[in-house]
Amino acid sequence: MDILLKNVRLNDGESLKDVAIEDGRITAIEENMTAIAERVIDADGRVLIPGFIESHLHLDKALIADRKPNNSGTLKEAISVTAELKPTFTKEDIYDRAKRTLDMIIPNGVTAIRTHSEFDPAQGFTGFEIVLKLKEEYKNLVDIQVVAFPQEGIIKSPGTEEMMNQAMEMGADVVGGIPYNDSDAEKHIDIVFKIAKKYNKPVDIHAEFSDEATDMSIEYLCKKTIAEGYQGKVSVGHLTALHALPKAELDPIIAKMAEAGISVMALTATDLHLGARNDEYNVRRAVTPIRKLRDGGVNMCIATNNIRNAFTPYGNGDILQTAMLTIPVGHLGGANDLKTVLPMITENPAKAIGLVDYGIAVGNKADVVLLDTKIKGNAIIDIPTRLFVIKNGKVTVESTKETIIHR
Ligand SMILES: [Zn+2]
Repeated sequence: MDILLKNVRLNDGESLKDVAIEDGRITAIEENMTAIAERVIDADGRVLIPGFIESHLHLDKALIADRKPNNSGTLKEAISVTAELKPTFTKEDIYDRAKRTLDMIIPNGVTAIRTHSEFDPAQGFTGFEIVLKLKEEYKNLVDIQVVAFPQEGIIKSPGTEEMMNQAMEMGADVVGGIPYNDSDAEKHIDIVFKIAKKYNKPVDIHAEFSDEATDMSIEYLCKKTIAEGYQGKVSVGHLTALHALPKAELDPIIAKMAEAGISVMALTATDLHLGARNDEYNVRRAVTPIRKLRDGGVNMCIATNNIRNAFTPYGNGDILQTAMLTIPVGHLGGANDLKTVLPMITENPAKAIGLVDYGIAVGNKADVVLLDTKIKGNAIIDIPTRLFVIKNGKVTVESTKETIIHR
């Protein structure tokens, strides 16, 4: 075999296991294996988890916060600042920034990414082509799904629908959408589904990014998803406006979302930065109601969205930091809640983005991360060093860190 991981902890309270990896797959999980392997790694009781998943990211506009500040911190200024910068982006610039972003993310144990890659008639496919190129270049380190993302709208930006079809022909994996940034949200959703059905691809929508629950299209999206037989193939990012709804109005929407099998990506870092900017006191958290959605049977995920731009001027590419931030914000720190957070950056997004053979089980893909912690329940709150990242059955990252306390 290629790799034998000795003495890993898969679950708290269970005996330690050995995990065998060969030809990119997990071939055995047993106690005290004695097989010969090219590489033997003794985990000494440390936690092994499946690779983290960044289920909502923007590689093409990362690392530009230092170019022009968003002084008000509002979504409006974030959009206008970015629109001013976009014409200055060259292929080389986007390639360099996206690559640096991937190199920040991968050592932190991410083995799959869904990135929204935008285009419009003014900018053409400059960034989109670069992201497709990087998908190929990085395929041994991380699986990248590319979302064809019409950031400037479809109806109010003539020519975009044609470009979306072209983007699908060029190799996009997912049809994106942003109904709140278009002149007719329902028509926008209809166009997204028309393209998704034509190319038999899933849908991923930027939805209800607002402090107030007005002009929402989420109920229409649920209806459309069910009518088109797209249950389980639709995801939404943000969905912050739902936070503003009282229980009597929120519960039926959550029930409809669960019925439609719509997954949700909470984009905590961005939503906290841009949300509730008009609240002078009693400032709201402006993040989607994670616990209520989870308890209502909605597949909940946490993702990073942006790294260092006008939408999110911070971030170091570590999804564990994003998850940690979400714990207090989402009231997820209690013992029963805490254990639901790790799946929000592993199993849940794997389901949301349709990964197959994901997870630590015999026959599955060997995409795993060895954490420098011995308690799985602490996998996030320790923010442990990612000691080994294994992708497609190969060690892609090794970390060593020695800290000495001089008493
Ligand atoms: Zn986004």
